[in-house]
Amino acid sequence: MFTSADSDFDRRHIWHPYTSITAPLPVYPVARTEGVYIELSDGRRLIDGMSSWWCAQHGYNHPELAAAAQRQLETMPHVMFGGLTHQPAVRLCRSLKTMLPANLDCIFLADSGSVAVEVSLKMALQYWHARGEARSKFLTIERGYHGDTFGAMSVCDPVNSMHSLYRSFLPEHIFAPAPQSRFNGEWLPGDIIAFQTALAQNHRSIAAVILEPIVQGAGGMRIYHPEFLRQVRALCDEYGILLILDEIATGFGRTGKLFACQHAQVQPDIMCIGKALTGGMMTLSAAAAARRVAETVCSGEAGVFMHGPTFMANPLACAVAEANMQILQRNQWPQQVAAIERHFQTALSSLAGHPNVADVRIIGAVGVVETRHPADMAAMQKFFVEQGVWIRPFGKLIYLMPPFITAPQQMLKLTGAVAAAVGENRLFRQP
Ligand SMILES: *Cc1c(COP(=O)(O)O)cnc(C)c1O
Repeated sequence: MFTSADSDFDRRHIWHPYTSITAPLPVYPVARTEGVYIELSDGRRLIDGMSSWWCAQHGYNHPELAAAAQRQLETMPHVMFGGLTHQPAVRLCRSLKTMLPANLDCIFLADSGSVAVEVSLKMALQYWHARGEARSKFLTIERGYHGDTFGAMSVCDPVNSMHSLYRSFLPEHIFAPAPQSRFNGEWLPGDIIAFQTALAQNHRSIAAVILEPIVQGAGGMRIYHPEFLRQVRALCDEYGILLILDEIATGFGRTGKLFACQHAQVQPDIMCIGKALTGGMMTLSAAAAARRVAETVCSGEAGVFMHGPTFMANPLACAVAEANMQILQRNQWPQQVAAIERHFQTALSSLAGHPNVADVRIIGAVGVVETRHPADMAAMQKFFVEQGVWIRPFGKLIYLMPPFITAPQQMLKLTGAVAAAVGENRLFRQP
């Protein structure tokens, strides 16, 4: 039982994501999870619309993931990766090699998404160092999100991630405007011009371009035209600059392709993956690099890639991730994601005309309703819980990225709750 003393302790002593310690918003105690359900400690069962932030792609407590964890727990939960190796890491990386873009040949396993981003940035820096060039700038676009550690934060949207707070510490990189062309809309050729200019003017100091392919997640849930990504790839090739694609949110089927870069048929030089890698069971991430990049990195002064997390290639996480790759390789996800997308098309698109709605955006199993006014977080969260769903809006964004296994009736409950929330003026902070 989660007691009121537990709640008091939590409020007083435990920091939640992006939360005040003095005036925290309410948090809901969870007792257990199962399939698409999150069960609160008071017994209420909520249909999950978030997949725990992109992660639990096949729902919670998946028996195959649990069995893989159990088996691994009995033989070897963890062992250091320096000087040692193991089957769970080899099996996982074998699977990843068949699934990742074909040019990505060398895999660095890390512990969280942000760390994978740090690793990718360090790879790019070492790549240029080895080539005898001092390059330390990254080029990216506004509205991006790449994680909360300093390197990652330095390439996040400067406004959303409050670069001003950390100005004295944060490296300054180069930002171009985010593309305006919508995923399914017309390509507006002007979209690439500022990016092209930034590249032309700074290419001698730029180590790499880093982007979220097609879907900009936590920075605003924007979904852009694949032509932008194609042109970015072509420009990187023209200037000989590395392209890092951050697929931490989009990877493993969420957008209707295994990786979002496939919407544009481009391959990055380095790719970051994480989030759904273990099917939402535990943390694991990776940065995968083209062999040419990896070999150049290791031909430099250091002779090695200078990174090595304590829990690198944690066998427990690798075993679970490999079980998740097996589920994905059975290939049920494309139909599941397509069904969710069709549901969003009927249930969410119709909200576009509502006076409280500014925009509706859909790709694969991601449905976004951008409202005209920011949500009153506490009130809207409570409203959704009362409707029997777990949906966590931020700012003007109410978005759904449910587990792929969500059934049509459950989808109806999720989108019905969003439609109901949109109709309640009291759930929005009015100007
Ligand atoms: C979540 C996310 C990250 C950071 O991953 P963490 O595991 O939270 O450190 C980086 N990039 C993208 C695109 C993400 O969505």
